[in-house]
Amino acid sequence: MSDNPFRSLPSVNDVLDTPAVRNLQGRHDHDLIVAAIRQELTDVRARLGKGETLNGEATPDYFALLVEQRLAREYRPKLLPVINATGIVLHTNLGRAPVADEAARAAYDAARGYLNLELDLETGKRSSRQDAIREWVCRLTGAESATAVNNNAAATVIALRALCQGKEVVISRGQLIEIGGSFRIPEIMAVSGAILREVGTTNITRLADFEKAIGPNTAALMQIHTSNYRVSGFTKTVPLAELVTLGKKHQLKVIDDIGSGAMVDFARFGFEGEPVARESIASGVDLVLFSGDKLLGGPQAGILAGKKEWIQKIEKDPLMRAFRLDKMTLAALETTLRIYLNEAHALEKVPVLRMLGTPLAELKDRAEKLAHELSALPGIFSARACGDVAFVGGGSLPDQKLATWVVEVQVQSVSDEEFAQRLRTGAPALIGRLRNGRILFDLRTVFPEQTSGLITAVRDALGR
Ligand SMILES: *Cc1c(COP(=O)(O)O)cnc(C)c1O
Repeated sequence: MSDNPFRSLPSVNDVLDTPAVRNLQGRHDHDLIVAAIRQELTDVRARLGKGETLNGEATPDYFALLVEQRLAREYRPKLLPVINATGIVLHTNLGRAPVADEAARAAYDAARGYLNLELDLETGKRSSRQDAIREWVCRLTGAESATAVNNNAAATVIALRALCQGKEVVISRGQLIEIGGSFRIPEIMAVSGAILREVGTTNITRLADFEKAIGPNTAALMQIHTSNYRVSGFTKTVPLAELVTLGKKHQLKVIDDIGSGAMVDFARFGFEGEPVARESIASGVDLVLFSGDKLLGGPQAGILAGKKEWIQKIEKDPLMRAFRLDKMTLAALETTLRIYLNEAHALEKVPVLRMLGTPLAELKDRAEKLAHELSALPGIFSARACGDVAFVGGGSLPDQKLATWVVEVQVQSVSDEEFAQRLRTGAPALIGRLRNGRILFDLRTVFPEQTSGLITAVRDALGR
């Protein structure tokens, strides 16, 4: 070996010739590999320049390993599957609702082939893509007509724009919601071109407040579900039926943004007060709006259901082109809606409903088994099953606790934060809840078939 450590470095070609790098050729572009080799050589030269020694490290195989690690790091996909052990069923940062297998398959099939998206197969004529969901939403909600856009935020904007632009929309002050990610009713109103007319106070709004606000420029009365907060104590809101009666009297539209899009009564899961789309339509509103990926448990979408005349007007709005659903989402949404035609099927197949409906005894059983397996891993100080409470999340049912079972884990030799970071960056990524120096894995949101992946993720994180 020469005395000059720089000269003992391999050439780019030496590294390219190693078995490990030759193996990479199938996966990465040649130029990217060469660039990565150069980068590693530059880094090592910089280390040598600072006086570091390399004690025999500078072999082509050593560089090949560095190159492999660099490429794996830099070209890792940004979107990765995550095991959700937070217990939060609708976790907006984790993609909200996982869809039913059948719905996911429909999206997959739609994505990789052709389909009659806007073609009537009977007549051979052009049709509307909304036909895929219109009839199903109507059957499920009792509405005359329906259409769908990208999310409920878009549904709100397009409804207000198409039906109330330049006109006043009367809303209770207690319902001027902000949903995470800058959906704020006053701003949405402004974007749509409708004029917000707030009435009442934060805690009390009476029918008389609405009545007094009605004038020649009023277009609609709007009710908005306070999805992610509750006004409680000395409060009064106007029942929807009274709002509808008032709207009819003055020939105004009544729009009901119910937020979560519950198709079944959530009282069965012990949740109170979640509006159901069908009930809203039955009370006589002109239009009900809701999300596809909250309690409905489908893909991200915003559904508008109600009077045919208004739905037609909305579909003719130029924004429809910008807001319309793509074929994959539409296919997943249609399949999800069709599952709801049989409520028993929905409870079984729609993951959100299945997770919310999992009996505590089953969660306890799974938590105990998991605690037992985790206890046996090296590096685990303790793993025990215990009862706990969680929330549904996704801006739904804000104050209603959900009993659940968790495995509470304490580890040796790494901090809980370091451990959580390793779990997040592992494959599969695993996310739990951190509490008092412990990490909790909530079984409600872990699919049974993910248990072995969870154990592997914990083992890998402890071994790193
Ligand atoms: C969540 C929510 C929205 C926004 O729905 P996205 O589908 O997230 O755009 C609007 N209104 C209410 C009442 C909501 O709960």
